[in-house]
Amino acid sequence: MSGSIFSLWQDIKDLARSLLYDKESACLLCATHVSGGQVFCDDCKQTYFRPDLNRCSHCGKLLESQHTECEDCVAGRGPKGMEQAVAWGHYTGAWREFIQNVKFKSQPYLLKRLGPPLGDFALRHLPPPNWIVPVPLHDERLGERGFNQAAAMASLLHWELGIPLWEGLHRVQPTAPQVGLSRKERLHNLESVFQIVSSSQGLKQIQGARVWLIDDVTTTGATLEHCAKVLKRSGAAQVYGLVLAAGLEKGQKKDYSASEFGVIIGSDRRESVTIF
Ligand SMILES: [Zn+2]
Ligand SMILES: [Zn+2]
Repeated sequence: MSGSIFSLWQDIKDLARSLLYDKESACLLCATHVSGGQVFCDDCKQTYFRPDLNRCSHCGKLLESQHTECEDCVAGRGPKGMEQAVAWGHYTGAWREFIQNVKFKSQPYLLKRLGPPLGDFALRHLPPPNWIVPVPLHDERLGERGFNQAAAMASLLHWELGIPLWEGLHRVQPTAPQVGLSRKERLHNLESVFQIVSSSQGLKQIQGARVWLIDDVTTTGATLEHCAKVLKRSGAAQVYGLVLAAGLEKGQKKDYSASEFGVIIGSDRRESVTIF
């Protein structure tokens, strides 16, 4: 190789390395330089993942108050049939935009760096499962979008933690968009949507098992609730939900009056998303 070609080759290699290095050492949400293999900068960790806040011990929503359960769950309006769900971050700002880019702009590769921190978070908050199960997409939507974001997350966790995937849960009916619907309307919308379609071997595997049910976002918990019910009807012993993001219940409430429920429901609707 002549000197000039070698030098050009060296320049290309250096450029490629620097691009790769820069990409891997930038905060995934704001592009600030981060070191030591971090995925998020300290500011983004604090703003979007709120390690200082409790999660509702039932539905996983972030809580500004010192309560261990959100008001919806205290009032019996939380998701039923699940042991617990937990949300990694708050569905807002750059984290919300990131999740929407993954899903609606078909950018599943953005999830790639989340494996280690998401795996750590999950193991710190949930007991280790026998199986990881993604919330399924209907075939029609899968055809439009090209991938299922929950399945991409489940696959990341599978590779990160070495926990097997169970793929017998299916969405057998497309559902109308959930945006703007109340919890009751969402539950009605989801009747008979999920079913187990599995071999007898698959059914045997789920008997008595502890499952992590994976989705990107939860608002009312209706989707997780329906999937959990179907899994339990088929023999799963425990179902734990894990999502990238959920809403935040504002603090400073001293009791659970009707007007305060109104505030929470309103805030939930402002955070409304399509959860499939
Ligand atoms: Zn950042
Ligand atoms: Zn709750």
